[in-house]
Amino acid sequence: MTHPVPAIVILGDGSLATARDIQRLLPGALIHGLSGRVEDVDVIYHEFGSTLRELYQQNTPIIALCAAGIVIRTLAPLLLEKGAEPPVLAVAEDGSAVVPLLGGLGGVNVLARDIAQGLGVAAAITTSGELRFGTCLLNPPEGYSLGDLELGKRFVSDLLGGEPVRIEGDAPWLAQAQLLQDRQAHLAIHIGSAEREPVANELLIYPKSVLVLVSAETADLADAIRQALQQAKIAVQSLACLLASDQQMASQALRDAADELGVPLRFSAAGSVSDTISGAVGAATVHSHNGITVAVAEHPLDPLLIGRPRGRLAVIGLGPGAADLMVPAVKAELARANDVLGYETYVRMAGPFRADQILHCTDNREEMQRARHAFELAAQGRCVVVVSSGDPGVFAMAAAVLEALHESSDPAWHNVDLEILPGVSASLATAAQAGAPLGHDFCVLSLSDNLKPWAIIEKRLDLAAQADLAMAFYNPISRSRPWQLGRALEIVAQHRTPETPVVLGRDIGRPGQTLRVTTLGQLTPDQVDMRTMVLIGSSTTRVFPRAEGLPWVYTPRSYGDQLLDIAKPMID
Ligand code: SAH
Repeated sequence: MTHPVPAIVILGDGSLATARDIQRLLPGALIHGLSGRVEDVDVIYHEFGSTLRELYQQNTPIIALCAAGIVIRTLAPLLLEKGAEPPVLAVAEDGSAVVPLLGGLGGVNVLARDIAQGLGVAAAITTSGELRFGTCLLNPPEGYSLGDLELGKRFVSDLLGGEPVRIEGDAPWLAQAQLLQDRQAHLAIHIGSAEREPVANELLIYPKSVLVLVSAETADLADAIRQALQQAKIAVQSLACLLASDQQMASQALRDAADELGVPLRFSAAGSVSDTISGAVGAATVHSHNGITVAVAEHPLDPLLIGRPRGRLAVIGLGPGAADLMVPAVKAELARANDVLGYETYVRMAGPFRADQILHCTDNREEMQRARHAFELAAQGRCVVVVSSGDPGVFAMAAAVLEALHESSDPAWHNVDLEILPGVSASLATAAQAGAPLGHDFCVLSLSDNLKPWAIIEKRLDLAAQADLAMAFYNPISRSRPWQLGRALEIVAQHRTPETPVVLGRDIGRPGQTLRVTTLGQLTPDQVDMRTMVLIGSSTTRVFPRAEGLPWVYTPRSYGDQLLDIAKPMID
């Protein structure tokens, strides 16, 4: 099972050396540095507060190299809202102090000790139980779960009061703990998968050693599973995962049940389900009831080794380029990806990636091949991301991926969890910088005749210009399409005056971006290249100076009387 990889957050160059030392201790962790203060880091952020809060809300463990007070003040507004919290630590920028702040039940003290040991200092552990026993009894290791937190707290305070304890069951991790053990003790730590009434003198810890096979889907599946466990006298906390056959992969009922029970969902080919079970749980105790089979293993199960998960394919839009214009759902998707496919430039833009993530960079033209490759990987149970710039549905990979799926009759492809995640398209990013040139009706056209006949493009340009729509031209020009833009502008000029405002955005949201405001009369194709977005105003689009820099450009939302006069000749 994998823990989320921590983020190391620094404010300036002074803490970079310590950040690097910590990064060496935590493979995969990325260093996040404040824009303008540090350069040589993995991720640049612009605002400390919002970055820290976003990481916290995504459950990412945080190692902040700054004063503990700053971290506390920044996260304070979020603390009351949340039950489970990721580990949060403050580390002195010179590495001389490691202070666990939050996430006691998420293993913050373990992380603090590991980091402190690597830096050659002592962690500032303040949790009494940890100090006394050397481990957090309320935070059992992976593969085990605590029965009840509130009862547990009381139990630990009794132990801290000096009472002895006996251990019932198999708890290898407690061998190191400094517990006062006595076989006759009144207090007991009980480890087992059988259902058991909670009592004050017992700390119940359940091994996640139970697998449930679902062969028939009932109406309230989670409830049916709970009942089956109850009949088998097995505690629901011991459930490690649900297993079903490949044919059930797209089942919403199964997904809901797994979510409700908080366990992973795994699949196995229909013919080999029983092999999968016996491979996972060995000579297990098995109970069956109404299409639900409960198999109890001797030891905790690792769901990652049982069958395989439903594969996922997300087609994502990076936005124009700047990290802060990427939607959070896309960032989260990139973080969970096993494989990332796309045109090399965009894959690089989507990084940085961890060493365990596989990048498949291909040529921009191999779209269908890339889409099919993505399905092949996802159908194996992998978590796959196909990247586009801007929005994936605008002259980009989403349509190619859907076309590949439509053409396929392979059920494994159709069972993939496919999702399209939107991004800020280049026309919208460019428009926003200029003002609101697309503030009224507009149309979006690609001037590339690689995938459609030029005659269609001419016809659409003519009709769109006639209809007085503002226009956004994608793919306006390239080396292999040198004359098309000039011809397009001629067509538009038949319906618009030379004063019509035009916005040119080049590499918007990327380093070296440029924005120009010009007019249709002054626009020539040599001002445009394939990295440019061309926005042509309608008859009502207006321009006025702004306090500083380029003028504002906007298209009013309504045709007032005055504007109607201007527009009339265009639409008559
Ligand atoms: N899916 C992308 C568009 C891909 S088509 C999106 O939604 O933005 C590629 C064309 O988009 C380029 O030829 C250019 O016209 C435009 N484009 C893409 N990114 C751009 C950027 N950052 N700045 C200006 N234009 C851009």
